[in-house]
Amino acid sequence: MNKNLAYSIISVCLMVVAFLTYKFTSGAGSAGLAGIDADSKIWVKCKNANCKAAKEMGERDFYAALEGNTEPGRRSGPGLPCDQCGKPTSVYKAKKCPESDCLAVFFYGSSQNDIPDRCPKCKVSQTEKSRRERRSASEEE
Ligand SMILES: [Zn+2]
Ligand SMILES: [Zn+2]
Repeated sequence: MNKNLAYSIISVCLMVVAFLTYKFTSGAGSAGLAGIDADSKIWVKCKNANCKAAKEMGERDFYAALEGNTEPGRRSGPGLPCDQCGKPTSVYKAKKCPESDCLAVFFYGSSQNDIPDRCPKCKVSQTEKSRRERRSASEEE
């Protein structure tokens, strides 16, 4: 990636984090957000089958936005508004497949009765993979 572009992305991220930190420390206490690493990124995806827009965002930003989007009195928030299709509550936390030839963004637990992190596209589960790697490593000893 272009270095200047990387720096400008980082500085934008830092500004957003600084703004959110200010907003939340000055407003109602939300201790949960403070426990999230400011650099932590997650993938989110739109549940609208005709949209399926996926993007990466700061984990803190996600939860901060989710908190803002939760109706008072509801314990578990809906999703976030989708900036692609405009649905108000269709963006949820997702997972990006780390397999370099796959990189599908999918919802955790999309394979029923199976390991929740199994990728529906390439069928690789990172949990299963690391388990298998650990097993083969111990067999070699
Ligand atoms: Zn959408
Ligand atoms: Zn995959």
